[in-house]
Amino acid sequence: MIEILQDSHWEKIPNLVYGFTTRWGGVSSPPYEEFNGSLSVGDDPLAVETNRKRFSEQLGISLSQCFTVRQVHGNDILVIDKEGSLPDSKDLQKGHDALITNRVEVLLGIQTADCLPLLMVDVEKNVAAAVHAGWKGTYLGIAMKVIAEMSRLYQSSPREVQVLLGPSIGRCCYQFGDPEIQEFKERYLHHARWIESRSGSYFLDIREANRCQLLSRGVPAENIRSITRCTCCEREEFFSVRREETTGRHLNFIMLRSKGGLR
Ligand SMILES: [Zn+2]
Repeated sequence: MIEILQDSHWEKIPNLVYGFTTRWGGVSSPPYEEFNGSLSVGDDPLAVETNRKRFSEQLGISLSQCFTVRQVHGNDILVIDKEGSLPDSKDLQKGHDALITNRVEVLLGIQTADCLPLLMVDVEKNVAAAVHAGWKGTYLGIAMKVIAEMSRLYQSSPREVQVLLGPSIGRCCYQFGDPEIQEFKERYLHHARWIESRSGSYFLDIREANRCQLLSRGVPAENIRSITRCTCCEREEFFSVRREETTGRHLNFIMLRSKGGLR
């Protein structure tokens, strides 16, 4: 079984498939053991294919329903609209760091190993999103941009959007030098909650930074939930680029089910 982390509150949201994989349950060999979802990190493509197949079988869906993108630490968003056609492989390669859909039975996937994955859903408007926020995406405010796009395209009110933050590197481990931190400080005035200075270094709390961005766009605090685990500290559970350099990627996913569909 592929290990999938979930949230007790999100479990109650109807017609939703979502979760965050850990490193366990696939067939990849070290240093990608075991469930690596990414074809672009040097792992054996056959192993990744087997992992993905197992994943779709476990969820009871087809691989053709699963969409991941080439992530580039930018802030471009791929929208999969129910009125349009599904993206082809060329679209998926263009470079995106978030996906939004109002289409049922389309699984949006974001791959991470330290960066913060965010899943979003507006049950009222039947819209879902998956977001990749590393420090660059966080600097660019990608989570805020996704909230704005959900509102512009599908009239989602930020008050109705539920957000679940997945496992990421924590403020215990996410160390930065002066130049990056200065950029953050210049762009975000209220950074005191999520930039910490300790033993001559700076540490970024990427989870809190994104939470503050969401609050600033009108998402209520009670709508923001979090699986607060540090991918870098917890070697037994997660991949971490900071810790291992060459390693696998977790798959963080969300899908709107057609109403009355089986889970
Ligand atoms: Zn840590």
